Amino acid sequence: MVRRPPEADPPQAGAHHERRLATGFSPLRRYRIIGAVKISELGEFGLIDRLAKAFAETGRPDSLLIGIGDDAAAWKASGVQLITTDTLIEGTHFSLRYWGWRDLGWNALAVNVSDIAAMGGTPEQALLTLALPPEAAVADLDELTAGLVEAAREYGTAIVGGDIVACDTLMVTLALTGTAAVDADGQPLLTTRDGARAGDVIAVTGYLGESTGGLRLLLGERETDPEAAEHLKRAHLRHRPPLAVGRMAARLGVRAAIDVSDGLLQDLGHVCRASALGAVVRAAGVPMSPALVRSFPGQALALACSGGEDYQLLLMAPGHAIQQVQRVSKGPVSIIGEMVADPEHRVRLLDATGKELSLPAAGWDHLRPGGRPHGREAPWRK
Ligand code: ADP
Ligand code: MG
Repeated sequence: MVRRPPEADPPQAGAHHERRLATGFSPLRRYRIIGAVKISELGEFGLIDRLAKAFAETGRPDSLLIGIGDDAAAWKASGVQLITTDTLIEGTHFSLRYWGWRDLGWNALAVNVSDIAAMGGTPEQALLTLALPPEAAVADLDELTAGLVEAAREYGTAIVGGDIVACDTLMVTLALTGTAAVDADGQPLLTTRDGARAGDVIAVTGYLGESTGGLRLLLGERETDPEAAEHLKRAHLRHRPPLAVGRMAARLGVRAAIDVSDGLLQDLGHVCRASALGAVVRAAGVPMSPALVRSFPGQALALACSGGEDYQLLLMAPGHAIQQVQRVSKGPVSIIGEMVADPEHRVRLLDATGKELSLPAAGWDHLRPGGRPHGREAPWRK
């Protein structure tokens, strides 16, 4: 997952000023809502009851033996199992200035669904860990829960347990299990980073750069027409991983995939290193929506190649397999290049004349300070 650029918060007078974190927001000022019922008034067990009731609406998978309420969840399993986890931290991965609590709930599940989709799997059940500021409003928690329930319904998953801790920083961690299909010989039908072969076509689902474009609009850095603004902002607020495409691709013979969470060029670089190959991407093939091109003239390609949080899928496979995916997919699946032999495992972006374009391929790095090329270094700010 990507890091947010540090937020510039105007200096505030008063006692909370000292409590501001390095990321520039005050947890106390943010969560204190005069007159609202706080989660601390509900207590841990009141809270768990409330969550359990809400999550009961997501249905109960047949395989589930024991859900929320015991020391651990229990379920029957067979075949190939998948498990993944992702954390969203306020100030690092999102800000409540532009994400609502409902978006946070939706996205906490969606980013994990994206990882299961990238393996060609089907999500099953989730554990939810909430680190909540005690002064947060119960009404906000209900919104978070509603977003989770919406996403759980959309992607066919159940939330079967979790944990709650009090913490000054709002954090949501979700762990998600899934299953993968097997072929007639019992071999797992997985799409992995190391599954690409030289000569494979590279395809990508949907449109790229929209989420980062939407973020820039939400931050008020640019204005555009209302229709484009609505479309791009929505792309940032609600991640929509193409789960069905990933699952179909695995069944149609695609053996390599990755989700685009940190930017096209960077994520393709992971596939190149894992598969010991290089990649050639043709700029003309990179799918960009009219809304993005219209709103960010001259910068759309940089956003599409190096922006993050697209949560689309990159698929690497022989051309005939990609064509089959294109035929059955409801949304666009665009061919953007091919995997090639390259001892240096480079990702090269070419213009229409075959000349190599230089964009900062280095995308997000969670552990490097300022690892994301944000601020003045961001390509779209030039
Ligand atoms: P323990 O004391 O064993 O850690 P807890 O009191 O934390 O158990 O949790 C009690 C039950 O509530 C467990 O089944 C747990 O999975 C469930 N639970 C706790 N927090 C959450 C949450 N955030 N979402 C869903 N279920 C939760
Ligand atoms: Mg516990």
